[in-house]
Amino acid sequence: MFAMSTPLQLDENALRNVVTEVLRGLGRNPPPASAAPADGGARAAASAPARRPAKGSRFGVFEDANEACVAAHDAFLQLKEQGVAARAKVVEIVKELVTANAVAWGRFEFEETKIGRLEHKVEKLQIVKLVPGVEWLHPYGLSGDHGITMEEYTPYGVVGAILPVTHSVPTLSGNIINIVAAGNAVVFNPHPGGARSAALAIRAYNEAIHAALGIENLVCTVAKPTLESFDALAKHDVIRILCVTGGPGVVQAAMKSGKRAICAGPGNPPVLVDGTGCLQKAARDIIQGGAYDNNLLCIGEKQVFVLASVADEFLAALQAAGAVKLTAAQLEKLTAAAFTMAKDAGGCSHPVLNRALIGRDAAVLAREAGTSVPEKTPLLFAETDAAHPFVIEEQMMPMIPVVRVPSVEEGIAAAVRSEHGYKHSAMIHSLNVDHMTQMARAVDTTLFVKNGPCVAGLGLGGEGYLSYSIATTTGEGITNPKTFTRTRRCVMVDNLRIY
Ligand code: NAD
Repeated sequence: MFAMSTPLQLDENALRNVVTEVLRGLGRNPPPASAAPADGGARAAASAPARRPAKGSRFGVFEDANEACVAAHDAFLQLKEQGVAARAKVVEIVKELVTANAVAWGRFEFEETKIGRLEHKVEKLQIVKLVPGVEWLHPYGLSGDHGITMEEYTPYGVVGAILPVTHSVPTLSGNIINIVAAGNAVVFNPHPGGARSAALAIRAYNEAIHAALGIENLVCTVAKPTLESFDALAKHDVIRILCVTGGPGVVQAAMKSGKRAICAGPGNPPVLVDGTGCLQKAARDIIQGGAYDNNLLCIGEKQVFVLASVADEFLAALQAAGAVKLTAAQLEKLTAAAFTMAKDAGGCSHPVLNRALIGRDAAVLAREAGTSVPEKTPLLFAETDAAHPFVIEEQMMPMIPVVRVPSVEEGIAAAVRSEHGYKHSAMIHSLNVDHMTQMARAVDTTLFVKNGPCVAGLGLGGEGYLSYSIATTTGEGITNPKTFTRTRRCVMVDNLRIY
């Protein structure tokens, strides 16, 4: 017991914690951790002293999806109070941490998922800094005889986001930059195969966000994600929109959820080589994109259609650039290992991908094909027809089928069929603008790269910005902060125009 005469000394943080707990108990929102000054919090965010975490803090990693949603909503309200400067601070924190931890987190993800290439896992984290942040959001203003109008890009609240196993932490980090720059909080349901990597990064981000801004759980994840946790997330009241990055199953589930879903769905990007350009460069570009991270990129080159008249020279160029050709017998063996035939509902059979071979090294695939290649071999290729499973399925492994086509028209038609209307990505190597235009129009993809590797479409060697979520299925395109905003209009009638 304190004697009445003893002056009571409480530090500011302790006092805030007490007030926060009391208000929470009363079911009311606590005041912002740093009372935002009139300048929108710029100085508060920049100079805030490091906060000590509340006891039992989870730093965004939750067992229960519902708890994660509630905590993220609480954090969203705190972020709102602290203004745009706080969002910018979060973006800065994510970019700094992902760059500083690229090697450690890349290795962790590589060891957890056991797919892809270590050096590319690291590189994919090092380039997250290219994802746009708050600078992307420019209000749209109108001024005329009837006054002024402002359209602003405002947050939804809490976004529910689904991650692929192919790039768990890169997608998570890029999504956080976009989603928080727009003023939202986020809860992730990662792929179970990449969930520990996601939790590692989420914890680090939250610790730093809490130290800088006093906000806990702005970015949350479910520690052991399941279909049930996806369902809970999709159904929770505070989740206003979903951002899904994954294959056909999860896209379908999200579309059925009743929530608005931004879907970065599957792809099967075709390449056309018409022989009018440099075949050696085309071969090098296809290896660069198609072999990257063992062909795990959704934008990655998955099948090549080459004019028959230049096919031999092109195949030689692929070999000269380091790719290894499989014989027909080797291809048959690998195909039997990579796909099983399943009966579909109509009684026809279709190939089903063997997930155990996804993202494995070319040397591993070569062994499955009954041969051996040097461990460092980036890519295998083989001649096939246009109906081969490696052409039709999104193989996600470094073995690219090459199909001879008699004309550009037939090459484009085959490319379109192989893309299945996913509207994802396609590439052409050509100096003929008619061919480029014909293919661009026919394939109708979100990304169309001319004379470069697929990654040029995401600002890596081509103009543009980076995102790991390309909203192909639902049409928002390469996601950016504006993707995660609501447009709201504010109108001043007949006044405030200065002329
Ligand atoms: P996946 O579809 O197996 O899994 C993706 C996510 O969805 C995981 O978190 C998984 O747990 C979840 N999921 C799967 N089925 C579900 C269901 N029925 N209900 C709820 N959740 C479900 O895909 P993956 O192997 O992790 O990733 C590769 C796929 O993602 C490829 O098809 C690739 O093209 C696509 N992808 C697309 C983009 C893009 O930007 N468009 C980016 C990366 C990957």
